[in-house]
Amino acid sequence: MKAAVWYGAKDIRVEDRDVPTVSSNQVKIKVAWTGICGSDLHEYSVGPITIPANGPDPLTGKQAPLTMGHEFSGVVEEVGSEVSGFKPGDKVVVNPLIISGNHKDPLIDMYKGFGFVGLNSDGGFADLVVVDEKNVIKLPEDLSLEYAALIEPTAVAVQGIKESGLKFGETVAVFGAGPIGLLTIIAAKAAGAKEIFAFDLSETRLQKAKEVGATHAVNSGQQNPVEYIRSIYPDGVDRTFEVAGVAPTFNQAIAVTRARGVVTVVSIFEKPVEFSPMQLTVTGVHLVSTLAYEPDVFETTVKLIASGQIDPSPVITDHIELEDIVNKGFEALMKDKSQAKILVKLSGEK
Ligand SMILES: [Zn+2]
Repeated sequence: MKAAVWYGAKDIRVEDRDVPTVSSNQVKIKVAWTGICGSDLHEYSVGPITIPANGPDPLTGKQAPLTMGHEFSGVVEEVGSEVSGFKPGDKVVVNPLIISGNHKDPLIDMYKGFGFVGLNSDGGFADLVVVDEKNVIKLPEDLSLEYAALIEPTAVAVQGIKESGLKFGETVAVFGAGPIGLLTIIAAKAAGAKEIFAFDLSETRLQKAKEVGATHAVNSGQQNPVEYIRSIYPDGVDRTFEVAGVAPTFNQAIAVTRARGVVTVVSIFEKPVEFSPMQLTVTGVHLVSTLAYEPDVFETTVKLIASGQIDPSPVITDHIELEDIVNKGFEALMKDKSQAKILVKLSGEK
């Protein structure tokens, strides 16, 4: 079978790999669509970050070269002898989060060691993938496999909204209008945000932010976000999401938030940032963070998308073939800021 395999930074090869075999509690999935994630892009440009390159992964025992891809949907092809919840032909999505299982509370457990199918073990940029039954979720019949590939990144946004404590009728600021920023806007709107301010440096991303529900889309290279928000809401906004991951936006996120409001850090930071904790002390702003999603939130996201309460489809900007994943996928995402979510076609089944 064909697979896109990570060998090192700037070294992803589409090559023939052996078809994986299932053990008793595993499910083999014929992949339909797989999204390219920002974390895949980090692994491509400056990796390894999460990928185990210098020894076996402590949770999965796997090691590079590894097939990437953790945002995928597909159809069950084969099940292990002890699998009872699935049968060949079932439409499924994979919750790629791998946790140790040492703590009974999944939200605490994930912080005691975590990994992802497609980063810490072979993933969905391949014709076939084998995962543990516990990571597989059955899809409603009427949810398309194409949109189901967006469940994983949407779950990240839904978790961010949950973590922020956003209430109906509140005001929201989102720093960064990449795929997760856009999905955060979509989720905030679904959760009842009254006004949503989006900040980015790219006009095309800001245009997209407006399309998906931002009431104000502001180029932070041209207008100071703090002055902009304070001119409309002198006290600041209720909930702010940091989805850009750099020092200026981190500090601005705190500065645009009202006293006792909440800043939720959703992004991955490549570098440390400098900030004064006094910024929090004198405002009472709460600074919280999120990582991936709780199992419940992932399943909730399946339902929110299936019911149409959340429509993540506007974030899709391209569909490409696996053979083109480097040039039309990773390189395109690095060079072209009008790209948001690129889906890689495997079986292409809708
Ligand atoms: Zn992802």
